[in-house]
Amino acid sequence: MNFELTEEQQIAVDSWRGFLEREMRPITDQYLDDAIPKGVTHKLLKMGADYGMCCAGVSDADGGLGLDILTSGLISEELARVSPDLAGTGFVTEGVSLKLSQGGSPELKARYMPGLLSGDLIGSSAVSEPNAGSDVRAITTRAVRDGDNYRITGAKLWTSNVIVSDVLIVLTRSDENEFTVFLLDREEHGYEVRDIDKLGLKGWSMGEVILNDVVVPASNAVGGIGGGLRLTMRGFERARCFISTVALGIAGAALDDAIAYAKQRSSFGKAIGSHQLIQALIADMAIDLDAARLLVYRGLKMLNKGEPFPVEAGICKVFATEAANRIASKAIQVHGAFGITKEFPVERHFRNARLLTIPDGTTQINQLIIGRNLLGLDAF
Ligand SMILES: Cc1cc2nc3c(=O)[nH]c(=O)nc-3n(C[C@H](O)[C@H](O)[C@H](O)COP(=O)(O)OP(=O)(O)OC[C@H]3O[C@@H](n4cnc5c(N)ncnc54)[C@H](O)[C@@H]3O)c2cc1C
Repeated sequence: MNFELTEEQQIAVDSWRGFLEREMRPITDQYLDDAIPKGVTHKLLKMGADYGMCCAGVSDADGGLGLDILTSGLISEELARVSPDLAGTGFVTEGVSLKLSQGGSPELKARYMPGLLSGDLIGSSAVSEPNAGSDVRAITTRAVRDGDNYRITGAKLWTSNVIVSDVLIVLTRSDENEFTVFLLDREEHGYEVRDIDKLGLKGWSMGEVILNDVVVPASNAVGGIGGGLRLTMRGFERARCFISTVALGIAGAALDDAIAYAKQRSSFGKAIGSHQLIQALIADMAIDLDAARLLVYRGLKMLNKGEPFPVEAGICKVFATEAANRIASKAIQVHGAFGITKEFPVERHFRNARLLTIPDGTTQINQLIIGRNLLGLDAF
């Protein structure tokens, strides 16, 4: 597999990186550990749209830029170096567009895709519930047919973006063994949300969703009535690759910070970076980051082909998110006690990285998927 970037990919990354540093960082740096307000999120998404944020991986037939998925992943990785929160908001919003593109009616697409692609609308996707996380099939949110409508009742938990989102796609149980995804419009159908404070990625909102007899037309089903589980599972492989690009961004920032600190801090009469054991820490971080990057780029290239790749998606997700934790932890070690203070960014990288081994299949769930595919035996 060739991992060399094409000239177009290199140009896209270089111009995006420059734009991020010049235009976006001054804004996102104001919200390093605070929720990015809805108005500011819209502004940032709109600023990034020309470079492919939220729209790079959506086909041009559906109004996106139709770039290859590796380029879309590179855009997310670069953004995550500056703001993992915004990268998370962006890839979840683009995920909603992709689901609409795969399974939305022409009317739903015409109504929502332009806004989702331009940053005018923010998307969120609710699968997990208080008693159903890894075990997606255990969801109890009900959608009951009522003429041309469905009435949805239930509670969703840990929904990213939902505090600021305009559009929510929600996985429901529409019959005993039937699952359907519906699109809800915050203005039209209303959905009640409650903010969840968490360890890291505090700029990337997360919330609980309460659905109390919400009436939605049957035509708002995405992927057809009964097609919800297939659509949701299909989306997980993409999500595994993209949460891994967020891991790469955080890990890259942690390595940069550790190198800068190792050059300017002295002990025993010389820069700590001159001590061999600090060099070993830095080298181990670089080895982990490089290996993670190659696995993520492989995942993105496989995603581009459109075939299922459960093993490679799982390997990419487990390795990149666990590596980001190791790297952020070592970055703190390089900083000594200063590393655990708010004066340096590495404690934030550490908290941010810690969240990533949980969504889109925990490390353990991905291990089980890899194991099942290699052994042909189900250990769930
Ligand atoms: C940052 C972040 C963003 C998220 N965004 C969203 C979102 O946008 N939408 C959404 O729907 N959800 C979202 N989630 C929720 C996420 O999908 C769930 O947290 C995840 O699926 C795990 O479910 P759980 O937390 O209920 O843990 P559980 O499923 O209760 O698992 C608890 C522990 O048990 C382990 N475990 C479970 N089953 C097995 C098994 N069979 N064998 C071995 N170990 C097992 C797990 O690995 C874990 O360590 C997000 C979570 C995080 C942290």
